[in-house]
Amino acid sequence: MIVDCPHCFRRVITNDDGSCPSCGNDPSKAGNSDPNLRPARIASEEELPDVCIGCGVPTPLRRKFVRRRTSPHASEAGESVGGVGGFLLAIVFRFLLQDNKQTVSIKLPVCQSCSTKEPTVLHIDFDNYEADFVVHRLFWDALRQKRKDRET
Ligand SMILES: [Zn+2]
Ligand SMILES: [Zn+2]
Repeated sequence: MIVDCPHCFRRVITNDDGSCPSCGNDPSKAGNSDPNLRPARIASEEELPDVCIGCGVPTPLRRKFVRRRTSPHASEAGESVGGVGGFLLAIVFRFLLQDNKQTVSIKLPVCQSCSTKEPTVLHIDFDNYEADFVVHRLFWDALRQKRKDRET
């Protein structure tokens, strides 16, 4: 059965025992998830509405969200050269990788009280500079409106 899991906010095909293959919870039970929350995909450079992603109140504040992909290639390259030179090379290589391709950086709108909480991230897509967050319904509505305005 295809359902929208209220625990991990993914559309999933349930396991034989009815559990969610993504998070292991039972999608037929709402659990303690907030009905005002929903998943949203946000791009790195996207201009976001002045609405708190956590609780939906208007806010001018932003909280920087940064994630780097740790590249296995960077350390391999250094180790294969060996010695101090290899070590330095690994650092430079890692630095370049992170700066160019491996970082997703998003300025999330948050209110004062939500600014201390870590945002809930469902998935980070480093190749497309996007991330899926759990956001408040009001933020999602404002974001959708903003995207619509941009199109016209
Ligand atoms: Zn789930
Ligand atoms: Zn808030």
